[in-house]
Amino acid sequence: MVKAVALFSGGLDSVLAAELIRRQNIDVLCLTFTTPFFNARKALEAVCQINLPLEIQDITSEYLNMLKSPRYGYGRNMNPCIDCHILMLKIAGRKMEETGSDFIITGEVLGQRPLSQNKQSLYIVAKNSGYQDYILRPLSSLLLDPIKVERENFVDRSQLLSIHGRGRKIQIKLATNFGIVKYFPPAGGCLLTDPIFSRRLRDLFSHQGDRNIRDIELLKYGRHFRVSNECKIIVGRNNADNEELKKLATSDDLTFNTTNFPGPFVLVPYGKETDKQIASALCVRYSDAFAGTKAHVLCLHNNLSELIISKAATKEDCEKWII
Ligand code: SF4
Repeated sequence: MVKAVALFSGGLDSVLAAELIRRQNIDVLCLTFTTPFFNARKALEAVCQINLPLEIQDITSEYLNMLKSPRYGYGRNMNPCIDCHILMLKIAGRKMEETGSDFIITGEVLGQRPLSQNKQSLYIVAKNSGYQDYILRPLSSLLLDPIKVERENFVDRSQLLSIHGRGRKIQIKLATNFGIVKYFPPAGGCLLTDPIFSRRLRDLFSHQGDRNIRDIELLKYGRHFRVSNECKIIVGRNNADNEELKKLATSDDLTFNTTNFPGPFVLVPYGKETDKQIASALCVRYSDAFAGTKAHVLCLHNNLSELIISKAATKEDCEKWII
């Protein structure tokens, strides 16, 4: 039996591409990836609509290596879309070999995204993945050169499509024909396209050479203040942030809480003695302490506690430090 591995984000295009090939009696395994920047939630929901097997791979370590210096650079934010596609296709190619499959399917549509899905980009990602002749884009195949499985008639090219551009009409009609009623938009869900997250990530990359997954997870919560090259202070914005930051804190960090007023949880990753006054002042600033009042702040470090009396950081300082 002919077998394929489908790169499966869970977006409508990836669902249609996989389903189009499955309808040719080809055995399709869907493959999706997780990193700290995107997860498998969409893929898990979407795959139920077409009843295909889904494999989820955590590719964090390879992804972080690529993200340090993507060969084709970043998009508008910290999204290295071309290198990201190359990496995903490389991993899908390895899965194809491992499972004895014949080709890889993607839901890419020619011209749908001006930077990462023009003809040149599709060519670049395919070539750099090392699997150029094995990548089938069923939604736009008729606008592209036939690949090996088409030339050898394992795939009936006449059943493939020639969709081009950003419109969604053809996809929506196809989804209706396939009985697919619930679907996600093509983009979304990648934190690397978020401007605030990207600013924080850029700051992390430029101040901390040796970063780990916890450092990246921390970027998702609270307000972040860069007060010196060595010191970054994170202030929870609400209960949910406070709880997440508490879960991520380690005994190497400094943590702060106001004791005589309700206030945020403040975390200084890998903090030092010298950071205590500024962190206390930020803690008071975002607490319910009355303006101009000094508040009591409890600092914990390595299981030792210290009570600091501090007034709030000024608005100007906060604006100067915020990332
Ligand atoms: S948006 Fe994110 S997940 Fe999608 S291709 Fe770009 S970097 Fe990769």
